[in-house]
Amino acid sequence: MGSLRFKARGQTDVGQVRSVNQDSFLVDEKDLLFIVADGMGGHAGGEIASRQCIDEIRSYLRKHHRVFTEQGPLRESQIAATLSNSVNHASSRIYEHALEEPSLRGMGTTATVVKILNGKAYWAHVGDSRLYLIRSGYLYQMTFDHSLVNEQLRAGIITPEEAEMHHLKNVITRSVGYQEEEDVDTNGFVLEEGDRLVLCSDGLHGKVSDEELSNIVKESGVHAVSQLVDLANRRGGEDNITAIVIEIQESGTSAR
Ligand code: CA
Repeated sequence: MGSLRFKARGQTDVGQVRSVNQDSFLVDEKDLLFIVADGMGGHAGGEIASRQCIDEIRSYLRKHHRVFTEQGPLRESQIAATLSNSVNHASSRIYEHALEEPSLRGMGTTATVVKILNGKAYWAHVGDSRLYLIRSGYLYQMTFDHSLVNEQLRAGIITPEEAEMHHLKNVITRSVGYQEEEDVDTNGFVLEEGDRLVLCSDGLHGKVSDEELSNIVKESGVHAVSQLVDLANRRGGEDNITAIVIEIQESGTSAR
């Protein structure tokens, strides 16, 4: 396999209804680190939690950067563990922050984190933001939504139609910062030339179908972010909207 190169773009938008944007995102093309965080909590708690989450994860990974250059058989699992630890580090720091400032009690955030290293995408995930892989015309949702509705759907308690209309659609079952520690899902996969990754908050994936998402990203690559945000806004934009698109290209091929 030749070496790969990466092109990425992210965008966030307050939407059409809310007065504050509680989503935050990171596109770090140098460290190949990408994060979407969707905060919750009143009195500025949501924006603070999502911003702090990203800052804590980034600084934790910089401090533990050696795991990304070490060799050896345990390496892959160590990378996944480090990503998971970075999310829990953020969780404990946000939790402590809320203890110090009573007006921030109960704040939390989702976190979907992607680290690209040696041709692989490693990810860690808590909450109902999502990571998608678009490959050879197919769209794969890599993360599982930690939401009440999704867990009821999986358990067969409700139908997909009921899930679509559910009044508790926004309730998540895991979050970063609401408690000191959380179960973090992690995994990794080998990237191929032509792959596109999408990270987004529920303000986007709740408004744009998988098929639309796939078509727009296939057509426009990183330029899809603004089109996707516009589409979610045209459909009501009741929630904050965030999207990151990453294009994976063979080194030497030209970017569009
Ligand atoms: Ca949201």
